[in-house]
Amino acid sequence: MVMNIKSNQFYMDLYDRFGANHYSKFKFAVERAKGAEFWDADGKRYIDMLSCYSAVSQGHCNPRIVRALSEQARKCDAVSGAVYNSTIGKCLQKVSEITGMNQVLLKNGGVEGVELSIKAMRAYGYTKKKIPLNAAEIIVAENNFHGRTTTVISFSSSERSKKGFGPYMPGFVSVKYNDFSELEKAVNEHTAGILLEPIQGEGGIIIPSDDYFPKVRELCDKQGILLCLDEIQTGMGRTGKMFCFEHYGIRPDIIIIGKALGGGVRPISGIATSMDIMDTAFKPGNEGSTYAEDPITGAVGLAAIEELLRIRPKEGINLVQRAEKMGNYLINQLKALDHSMIKEVRGKGLLVGIEFYEPIAHQVALGLLREGVFAKDTHETTLRFAPPLMIPKKLVDESVSKLERVLDGFVEYYTGNLG
Ligand SMILES: *Cc1c(COP(=O)(O)O)cnc(C)c1O
Repeated sequence: MVMNIKSNQFYMDLYDRFGANHYSKFKFAVERAKGAEFWDADGKRYIDMLSCYSAVSQGHCNPRIVRALSEQARKCDAVSGAVYNSTIGKCLQKVSEITGMNQVLLKNGGVEGVELSIKAMRAYGYTKKKIPLNAAEIIVAENNFHGRTTTVISFSSSERSKKGFGPYMPGFVSVKYNDFSELEKAVNEHTAGILLEPIQGEGGIIIPSDDYFPKVRELCDKQGILLCLDEIQTGMGRTGKMFCFEHYGIRPDIIIIGKALGGGVRPISGIATSMDIMDTAFKPGNEGSTYAEDPITGAVGLAAIEELLRIRPKEGINLVQRAEKMGNYLINQLKALDHSMIKEVRGKGLLVGIEFYEPIAHQVALGLLREGVFAKDTHETTLRFAPPLMIPKKLVDESVSKLERVLDGFVEYYTGNLG
């Protein structure tokens, strides 16, 4: 048989032959994407309820972001960090505006933003808190996800992520998430900072209690500890506020950003913080990255933020406000299913977790795929719905009704087994 060169099978075979087997994949190859949908090489259409873990919050191939990218790519590409360029300043200014922070330092992938924050917390601890050199501790939460470098996996609780990759980086103390008294007990004179996700995304859409972050903030103020929030997934409008910490009425000392800052077309991450913290940690020659802060990054980052803030003429609101509105709608529709397989629906904005009574999340994801809805399980019992923030209401409705159909199939399966 002659293989159709444009088939899913062709692209999958090619990848499996030459690519590493490091990331388990669903069995199709995406070829084309637009807005909240994509199409595989066999022509099947999917609603994208993952949005690349929030990287395409502005919608796939967003025309304004693509235009900024292509115009800048034709005009000026990479020039190194050794010179100023004509786009990056405006981008940093915009990040400063949305974060309310004085200064911004950009890198590429999200985990590099996390690495920057670790450097900043440690350096600040040695300089300002006089922690003995190389003795700084950073408190993190169990069940976290902050990325995949050797340092960051050192404080992961996922065995799968770290096994065989040691020795591990010392200087991290792990405590239960959303357990303030355990966190308080872990603090000592070597504690430089606390690094937390405002909602644990990969951990299963775990939302802390309302008083958790205010208490953490108060503790940090009392002890002179820096509070650093990883807003890579929860930030840039995902939860219906520009940043998730706004829900808790607190401000961190360091904000880590990533994913949607690159508008789906460029890996852009970084930290936003005070001038004091930035100056204390970073001096000429001790940080840098070839592509970070290059002209294309500047153009894309700016366009990505402007797209989040742009008032959409038909709706009279921007994408951040839309995340809140459409998120509430999605959560209400899911709750209204009142389905016997669903234990809980939780979320903020368009970051929504659907908790099942049974460990069926992966099977549900496979069922949804057959129906043309792409969503991923984050835990055995949790499915995540986190579509692009521009998702049309009718695609939300379609996803919910297809989820209902898939879950009905499981009811038959479970009751059939019992009968
Ligand atoms: C995705 C993610 C990261 C890592 O970002 P990469 O771009 O994959 O390196 C870190 N923290 C959180 C909360 C994330 O969701």
